[in-house]
Amino acid sequence: MKCCYCKTENDLRPYGPKGSMVCFKCAMATPEREKETGRNFGAQQEAAGPIAVIGTEVGPFPVEHLRPNAIVSGLPRAED
Ligand SMILES: [Zn+2]
Repeated sequence: MKCCYCKTENDLRPYGPKGSMVCFKCAMATPEREKETGRNFGAQQEAAGPIAVIGTEVGPFPVEHLRPNAIVSGLPRAED
């Protein structure tokens, strides 16, 4: 996967035009891109449901799809 603008392969998110991969720097490079990024993120987070997992390279997804051994910050751990 490469950023659709600068072709970096680091820290990409699927919030570019039509869901294409984009790096944070490019996503925030212009007011138009920043707006589109926010719109795409919002739409994907909403589609993922009330408890979405963010901060991963695949974008928000439903917490039910988490692997059992995944580490989720901010959520209580089962053994606590
Ligand atoms: Zn980029």
